Amino acid sequence: DPDINVDPGTMSPYQHGEVFVTADGTETDLDLGHYERFTDFTADKNNNHTTGQVYERVIRRERRGDYLGSTVQVIPHVTDEIKLAIGEGARDCDVSLVEVGGTVGDIESLPFLEAIRQIGMENDAGRVLYVHLTLVPYIDAAREFKTKPTQHSVKELLSLGIQPDMLLCRSHEALSDEARKKISLFCNVREPAVISAHDVDDIYEIPLSLHEQGADTIAIESLGLKTREADLKKWRDLLQRGKKLQNKVTIGLVGKYVDLVDAYKSVNEALKHAGMHCETHVDIRYIHSEDVDSTRPADLEGLDGILVPGGFGERGIDGKIAVSQYARESGTPYFGICLGMQAAVIDIARQLAGHTDAHSTEFAPETEHPVIALMSEWSDMKGGVEKRDERSDLGGTMRLGEQVCLLQDDSRARAMYDAAECVERHRHRYEFNGRYRESLEAAGMRIAGVSQDGRLVEIIEIDDHPWFVGCQFHPEFMSGPHEGHPLFIGFIRAAVQAAEQAAARRANK
Ligand code: GLN
Repeated sequence: DPDINVDPGTMSPYQHGEVFVTADGTETDLDLGHYERFTDFTADKNNNHTTGQVYERVIRRERRGDYLGSTVQVIPHVTDEIKLAIGEGARDCDVSLVEVGGTVGDIESLPFLEAIRQIGMENDAGRVLYVHLTLVPYIDAAREFKTKPTQHSVKELLSLGIQPDMLLCRSHEALSDEARKKISLFCNVREPAVISAHDVDDIYEIPLSLHEQGADTIAIESLGLKTREADLKKWRDLLQRGKKLQNKVTIGLVGKYVDLVDAYKSVNEALKHAGMHCETHVDIRYIHSEDVDSTRPADLEGLDGILVPGGFGERGIDGKIAVSQYARESGTPYFGICLGMQAAVIDIARQLAGHTDAHSTEFAPETEHPVIALMSEWSDMKGGVEKRDERSDLGGTMRLGEQVCLLQDDSRARAMYDAAECVERHRHRYEFNGRYRESLEAAGMRIAGVSQDGRLVEIIEIDDHPWFVGCQFHPEFMSGPHEGHPLFIGFIRAAVQAAEQAAARRANK
């Protein structure tokens, strides 16, 4: 990807998922997003530790002289640092769930596996439970499960000193009794603890599937915990709702990573959550931003809503601006997130405010009308002031994490949130240039949300449109399956209306 140089941490050839942003502004991989969506827990910087961070801490300690001049070694120095990190993540919780990423046998994960082996050895029996996720391929043609990859993976793990107590077997189909027996025997894991983690129609069925197989009971009993009966009503209700979807909408998602399934994971999930909330099946049509130009918006027809998510780098920006223009002119509900909002501002400035060469300085540093420009100063949640300029490093110098946004009284956003303010997560370097507030407002753009100090524009809307909203933050990171997010719900409601109107028009013809 030619944008990688200006795209730190957004996407690399070895990483195909989104960057998830935690409340405290840590940029992590998308696993933490799953944990937040499936539990009530809010992750922070202590909940994700990369090899690089661990080594950095070790090197810093060595420089400080903490090791008294002894040679730095993976065992004990790196492994001790990992154990410290795990302790920081556990805080004062009763149980700590530690996920070691990657595959057993990866070079990177070795010190991590050694660290968790040590944790097992250093604690009393019954305090640590090892759960190993393995692959059980199902061969369609032969109609059989292949247990060998699981056997090999367990063998590899055993060679590192870890005997798994439970296996979660990822498979296409529910594991047969025969396969379960075989895996149990060869992997030395009790049969009930060989759990089938087969594909399900809906990811939110997984808690119930694991519960039905007793995975939770086994974990609780082997850790000697005393708990109430599990109450999974919330999950059952959710699935019930998912089965009764009355409406259907087609949403166009316009970005440049549309061919990577997990690149917009949280956006996809947030759309689905809002759909379940509105009893609506949300069909997402992925549209490559490079395939769109203002002269050929044909692919955009038949959409009930258009969403332009966040992004970095110049590639595809013209398509995003064209899509925003199309949505604005055709009255199609439009939801612009971060770069999606910036694209809308550029379109409005060019077409409605007469600033024909308006652009973001991210893409056109010399533009006469920098309606989106580098953020130089903002206040953080603790009241401190953050400053940046063009010379700052790209990585880690963004406005990151939770910030308060004040919602304007009679705006759509105010009504959707049903509150005077909201707290949302950020990850961006550029912002709406305050110098253009007046001219864009005069042209029909409403500023519906601003930062707590009133200086940064957080939400824009167009009143004279069925539903046109752009936000500088990333609401998708705050959406959960049970409640959904107010902005996504508003967007899907508007899309349902658009779909109904389109159907009525077709019926009249
Ligand atoms: N590239 C834009 C910026 O840095 C938008 C970022 C985003 O969409 N997350 O401000």
